[in-house]
Amino acid sequence: MALEYSKEHGQLHFLVIPLGSPGHYIPTMDIAKLLAQHGVRVTIVTTPVSVVRFGSILDQAIKSGLPICFLELPLQYTDFGLPEGCETIDALPSFGMTKALMVAYNSLQQGVEQYIEKLNPRPNCIVSDTFLLWPRETAKKFQIPRIIFDGMSCFTQMCNHVLYLSKAHESVGESDLFVLPGLPDRIELKRSQLPFAFNPGLKDMYDFQQNIRASESEAYGVVINSFEELEKEYADRYQRVKGDRAWCIGPLSLCHKDESEKVQRGNKSSINKIECLEWLDSQANGSVIYACLGSISRVEPTQLIELALALESSKKPFIWVVRAGHMTENIEKWIDEEGFLERTKERALLIRGWAPQILVLSHPAIGGFLTHCGWNSILEGVSAGVPMVTWPQFQDQFYNEKLVVQVLRIGVSVGAQIGVNGALFGDEEKPGVVKHEQLRGAIEMVMGDGKEGEDRRKRAKELSVMANKAIEVGGSSHENMTRLIEDIRNQVN
Ligand code: UDP
Repeated sequence: MALEYSKEHGQLHFLVIPLGSPGHYIPTMDIAKLLAQHGVRVTIVTTPVSVVRFGSILDQAIKSGLPICFLELPLQYTDFGLPEGCETIDALPSFGMTKALMVAYNSLQQGVEQYIEKLNPRPNCIVSDTFLLWPRETAKKFQIPRIIFDGMSCFTQMCNHVLYLSKAHESVGESDLFVLPGLPDRIELKRSQLPFAFNPGLKDMYDFQQNIRASESEAYGVVINSFEELEKEYADRYQRVKGDRAWCIGPLSLCHKDESEKVQRGNKSSINKIECLEWLDSQANGSVIYACLGSISRVEPTQLIELALALESSKKPFIWVVRAGHMTENIEKWIDEEGFLERTKERALLIRGWAPQILVLSHPAIGGFLTHCGWNSILEGVSAGVPMVTWPQFQDQFYNEKLVVQVLRIGVSVGAQIGVNGALFGDEEKPGVVKHEQLRGAIEMVMGDGKEGEDRRKRAKELSVMANKAIEVGGSSHENMTRLIEDIRNQVN
């Protein structure tokens, strides 16, 4: 592939293209920072609201001289029926608009191609989110190697891989447990817990997934937010599947050491940093359960009430993040009218809106993390050495639960049975019901004093040490980032 780069400086230039969902945008900003720390010039393709919301975390890095800049392009909101300023999935008034948002993101292609056309030399690499299909054409058109990022683990990649090969899910009923064949561990799931790609009911999404697979197969390689030591056998197998062009470069969140960066990661925090830290400082080490169900999951208010009741009856201090946006009024009404706050005020910190998650998780007061099992959250919990209570909702989250509970043995499942993929894309699908007794039982196990709890905590701490080593100079993820950049440099020379 004939490529040029600035011979005077020998500096490579990467174009980084994130997807409009916090769970994708946030780690992509981290990838940009890491690339720049490794001497690569980075241009991030972004839009007017997102550049402020997600880009501000890079202000300090840019001020300190890291070569990062933004290519800000307008998003044609009204053309696609989106409310003004609505650029990410969590900002959509309803999940039914997800498709419109994806189409709106397609319109960035033209602006990006005009930008590339004017550049001499051309960028040396495109790093784009897997769920964006147009960068495939752009990369082809300008003969630029494309690296994809989908924000998932090697474990997930391998679960998907064996299902695509074996089609084992096709011969079982919705709610029958079956074994995913050919994996290093005996992983059993129900079809209803699998990602939407394996749910034939969602035809549109199935087709979309097929296009993604085609696009992935043409990509030069893939970067993964994980570290090899965490899921060694799966990382090795995935490497083989990808012909050695899969680079584990995480945990990405660990590229932020500074409190001021941690507090603004992903959004403006809804709680003042000092207030949050003072509350945490006032709690005993390892005593607090932190409950946050991610940035986009739309958990029914009735289920949130079960969670509130579980937190209350656990008798532990807790932080509960009540996400803004989805039926917020219903749950807020319940909180205010049913005396929940009054009953728990001595030991509760309620964050209404956006929590500074990595700041909270890294505080020694945190003893457990009740999570919806989004991969970023899992890895952030691992990085902080915190055992987890797992309550998966959709997509890769049931896989992540298996990894955490069964393979790594650092978590306890609440026993969710059914995925709610349909709800993610606007279908009228009713989520599975988890009772507060189940939630409380899992919280008590994770926070408990017995040997099982101690062993779980010990394993979580050991993984945290490994995670932190992986990103240091000489660590596996640091080395992988160097290898990736050298690989692209070899394409240029
Ligand atoms: N997050 C946060 N504060 C919140 C909610 C989410 O900082 O109140 C961050 C969290 O730290 C993680 C990301 O948003 O980096 C969510 O990604 P994840 O993969 O865990 O779940 P998703 O939201 O994509 O389902």
